[in-house]
Amino acid sequence: MQRILLTMALAVGVCWVTTGHAAAPRGAQPAAQTAAQTAAKTGAQAGYLFEHVTLLDGIHAPQRDMTVAVAGERITTVTPSALAQGLPGQRIDGRGKYLIPGLMDVHIHLKGGFDVAGKVDAEWGPPDREAGIGALASFLYAGVTTVYDAGNRAEHILPLRADERAGKILSPRIFATGNLITYPGSHGDSMAVRISDFEKDKALLDKHIAEQQPDILKLTLEEEGWGSRPMITLMPTDLLEKITRYYNQHGIRTTVHVSSELRALEAIYAGSDTLAHPVIQGPVSESFVKLMAAKKTPFASTLTIGENYSRLAEHPEYLDQPLYVASLTAAERDTLRNKTRAEWQARPWTWWMKIMTPIAQENVRKIHAAGGVVACGTDQTTGAATHRELELLVGAGIAPLDVIRIATYNSAVFLGKADQLGSVDTGKLADLVLLSRDPSADIANTTAIVLVMKNGRIIDESQLPLPGGRQKRRYPPG
Ligand SMILES: [Zn+2]
Repeated sequence: MQRILLTMALAVGVCWVTTGHAAAPRGAQPAAQTAAQTAAKTGAQAGYLFEHVTLLDGIHAPQRDMTVAVAGERITTVTPSALAQGLPGQRIDGRGKYLIPGLMDVHIHLKGGFDVAGKVDAEWGPPDREAGIGALASFLYAGVTTVYDAGNRAEHILPLRADERAGKILSPRIFATGNLITYPGSHGDSMAVRISDFEKDKALLDKHIAEQQPDILKLTLEEEGWGSRPMITLMPTDLLEKITRYYNQHGIRTTVHVSSELRALEAIYAGSDTLAHPVIQGPVSESFVKLMAAKKTPFASTLTIGENYSRLAEHPEYLDQPLYVASLTAAERDTLRNKTRAEWQARPWTWWMKIMTPIAQENVRKIHAAGGVVACGTDQTTGAATHRELELLVGAGIAPLDVIRIATYNSAVFLGKADQLGSVDTGKLADLVLLSRDPSADIANTTAIVLVMKNGRIIDESQLPLPGGRQKRRYPPG
């Protein structure tokens, strides 16, 4: 309907002016000439035209032979190519190609923060900014244009978020919690602000909000340290509810680390906007599936972190895939292949996780099939890992086109940004990935990247500070 309206607008020469920052309302379509006006106003180039492309945008059925115009930072027109006469912009031939929204990873912990030199807590030296910037580059290289950092050292992630927003670094959009918030002694304690009493510690919450400006607050509700480990302290649910309400009252969404159905339910009824993990401790009940479908609480899929231990132990050759070679230094891959692999092979945790991964996959599939909102998250820190998450979601029995929706639109819903991101629609921010092969036929084709656009600009791959350098693409962009 919108696209018909647009055609009518073009025909009668009606002109709606787009504002510089807010998305145009869904019904108000900018006419062709405003694209050039917007470009002139923002000082950007005349923009781009993706012509004759197949759109796979996660919320519409696939649309063939479409034209997408981008001016400034936004998508200004989406129309059948037959109706796209005289639009301004640099032409990009999309014949035989596929345009998807930029991929998202809504659960990462950016490298260079708490993982520096394997040290913990008080021993930490300064954050490794270069490692962080390299990891951010690996996301863009892999077509991931948005990430949410779900807990890090504030002095690492927050300056990078500021630099990303100022356009100073090549990076996906960064949303972050900064420090997360825990009950003293509970899960994630070492990268957290510790709160034991709401009234007594309110000043700490105010400081966190004022100084770190979390996009989404991350909390934890976990007595087993993510998986079956010795019991640790748990945040009381009434405290969780008070903190959640307080952040919401400051306009901030929340997410909670949980791994069991019981704690997931408690977090949801404490008011949490999202969950940071699926249930991994055992098969979910039918009533939980129904509840997730009814409430549509988005949750991050995070299958990759659990699966990556046995994957390294049994199939270290995955480290030779082009995206991993680009995303990691040679030394990092060497350490993983030898030292880390031997450690992981020796510990029961690896094999417990191998058993639980198919159970977690089935939990995710059931909730997706019932109408719940699965979002794409890895709990890892490279673009290569995000693509592993897509494979594991398909492996769970979810159709590739649905997996694209999970990694785009649903992830934007998780972030509370679906009005700005996550689909190819007029008025949305122009975060796009052009592919040379059909990702709805095979999810691996999401690596057949021709170009990545973020905020209306094409990423110059040669400028990405990739830890392992650019690699020959598995599928050439031809
Ligand atoms: Zn995490």
